Amino acid sequence: MLDSVNFEIKEKAKHVAENVVRPLASEHDRKQEYPWKVKEALAESGLLKTWIPKEYGGNGLGSLNLCLVVEELSRACGGVGVMFAVNALGSYPIILGGREEQKQKWLPEIANGERLISFALSEKMAGSNASDLKTLISKNDDEYVINGDKKWNTNGGVAHYYSVFGVTNPSQVGKPSAISAVVVEKGTDGFELGKEEDKMGIRCVPVRELYFRDCAVPKWNLLGDSEGKGFKIAMETLDHARPGVAAQALGCAQGAFEYASRFASRRRQFGQPIQNHQSIGFLLADMSTRIEAARQLVYESARMIDAADKDPSLKAKANKMAAQGKLFATDTAMWVTTEAVQIFGGYGFMKDYPVEKYMRDAKITQIYEGTNQIQRLVVSRHVAREATSLKFLDSFIPTIDQWIPEELLNEVKK
Ligand SMILES: Cc1cc2nc3c(=O)[nH]c(=O)nc-3n(C[C@H](O)[C@H](O)[C@H](O)COP(=O)(O)OP(=O)(O)OC[C@H]3O[C@@H](n4cnc5c(N)ncnc54)[C@H](O)[C@@H]3O)c2cc1C
Repeated sequence: MLDSVNFEIKEKAKHVAENVVRPLASEHDRKQEYPWKVKEALAESGLLKTWIPKEYGGNGLGSLNLCLVVEELSRACGGVGVMFAVNALGSYPIILGGREEQKQKWLPEIANGERLISFALSEKMAGSNASDLKTLISKNDDEYVINGDKKWNTNGGVAHYYSVFGVTNPSQVGKPSAISAVVVEKGTDGFELGKEEDKMGIRCVPVRELYFRDCAVPKWNLLGDSEGKGFKIAMETLDHARPGVAAQALGCAQGAFEYASRFASRRRQFGQPIQNHQSIGFLLADMSTRIEAARQLVYESARMIDAADKDPSLKAKANKMAAQGKLFATDTAMWVTTEAVQIFGGYGFMKDYPVEKYMRDAKITQIYEGTNQIQRLVVSRHVAREATSLKFLDSFIPTIDQWIPEELLNEVKK
């Protein structure tokens, strides 16, 4: 169930999506061009304030409302969904780990759309294993000097601020305590942008390598009050951002489903609309059902993230649900968008029709902000831990001694 604030924010996002995003989606995709007009519309509508706390110029509307915006935008264009959400990903390190004066300096400019931000964690050799960073952040009088390369930076080049993660304690390399985060401004000496990647989907938002060569930033830019907090900040950021990726997937699934169901009601074969052929009708029923199931899980995981911000005892539950929501919604999106192409038949394979783009945009949601293999790892660890509280079931489960004849048991024990 959504409340009146949720509906209001959803309507506002839908307005931007239908009036500005959808009409330009195909062009931005084809040209691989950043949608500046969309960014201006988002800033004007105040939607970039959604997740930023009120004290820092935002609307303080939390994760669920962020998801509602991302879902509506992605329903029209999956690329715009992430072009919006990446500003949340980039700013959460400041919201969750920054000092008061840092929040006051950086967050209001992001909330009003004057400045864009990105999140620079991944490296060529450190993707899923984000604790294995090689970028060095060394202290030098009142500066931190950054040396290293970052891979896959979404918003790279268009962002003014970069939340950059690296090693401040080389003796601890490979351990979370080695890592710190600093904010780097575009234009700082020694900070260079690599080429823009030519991507399968989400083509309207740039993804670039970042190079740091003796790039010095004021010591003040270290997030938090001491070194070694970066890994915790990164992991908490990803927990907060995951429902946003799930919402991006949900929007892609919904958008593709709507095209497919409309097409199925108009396309005729064997003398009737193809939706009347049971295999198409039932496929649409399954698509709709899985999307609704994903929606409930995504909204609930976002609510849990919001609740855990107020009550830290809920953090473990929020971590598990954020992983589950991302996993289920993104797998659903890949399945739904692929089947939507199938429903369009040969037309679905052509760029003249909008469904193939949903399939291309959906794929990345299974990969970034933790691949779905990593989400399964996270969920499986929670499941294993939770199993220890199920001891009351033990008397109903035969022990190994009861299953196996004694002579075989002796063999096993050898
Ligand atoms: C378009 C795009 C945008 C991105 N944007 C950003 C960004 O803005 N900021 C940022 O920091 N990063 C970003 N990333 C990086 C993204 O988060 C990583 O690509 C992702 O975490 C996977 O890392 P990897 O690509 O190095 O794959 P790897 O970690 O090398 O994984 C390769 C394969 O092995 C699997 N695998 C790895 N470890 C395990 C394991 N323990 N168990 C089972 N399977 C495993 C993975 O699931 C995957 O299938 C982006 C990536 C892309 C493609």
